Amino acid sequence: MSAAAVRPKVLVVEDDPAIRRFLRATLTQRGYRPLEAPDGAAGVAMAAEHLPDVVIVDLGLPDVDGLEVIRRLRAWSPVPIIVVSARGHERDKVEALDLGADDYLTKPFGVDELAARMRVALRHAAGAAGPDASPEFAVGDLRVDRARRQVFVRGAEVHLTPIEHRLLDFLVRHAGKVVTHRQLLREGWGPGYTDETHYVRLFMGQLRHKLEADPARPRYLRTEPGVGYRLMVE
Ligand code: CA
Repeated sequence: MSAAAVRPKVLVVEDDPAIRRFLRATLTQRGYRPLEAPDGAAGVAMAAEHLPDVVIVDLGLPDVDGLEVIRRLRAWSPVPIIVVSARGHERDKVEALDLGADDYLTKPFGVDELAARMRVALRHAAGAAGPDASPEFAVGDLRVDRARRQVFVRGAEVHLTPIEHRLLDFLVRHAGKVVTHRQLLREGWGPGYTDETHYVRLFMGQLRHKLEADPARPRYLRTEPGVGYRLMVE
């Protein structure tokens, strides 16, 4: 296989030429093949034509908004979608994630942050190689044996309640990605519970007390303000 054949294609749907330029340089340098669309309609058309490995979508576009782009892509494609939005637009981010976007970056974002999101998105897209299919998850002092439903911190087993298990298992399946309060509620309590975000906060607090060395400054179970949580992978 040629080198070009293994360099992942990244479609950037963004109207700001300065950000497109930054992404083009950064992605090329990191071994990706960037494709660019300046608006939503062109983005959807290019996704269908080029079948990119990852799509980066700005939420503020001149024609249709980024949420509509996500909706149109998700109608036929499981491609990982990373949303880019301005700070303070938490509600848009949550809606984008609930529509099926995989993650988000807040402007202005750095190269390392972008690179980390891309790695996670591609790993999840690879499926078999991702945490989804793996019976075990480990980061730092934390180890989760999904097959036996056992959790260890520094080698000592920690006992979780059934709801704590379900929440942690969901986070493990989405390790490295942000998950919303709503997704965690559905997972822990069922589809009837979508507004009781205080349940999530309570149980995530309990999980931190069981899993984190310093629950006030969590290393593994990070809060994404206004959005949800992220289980760190490194
Ligand atoms: Ca924009």
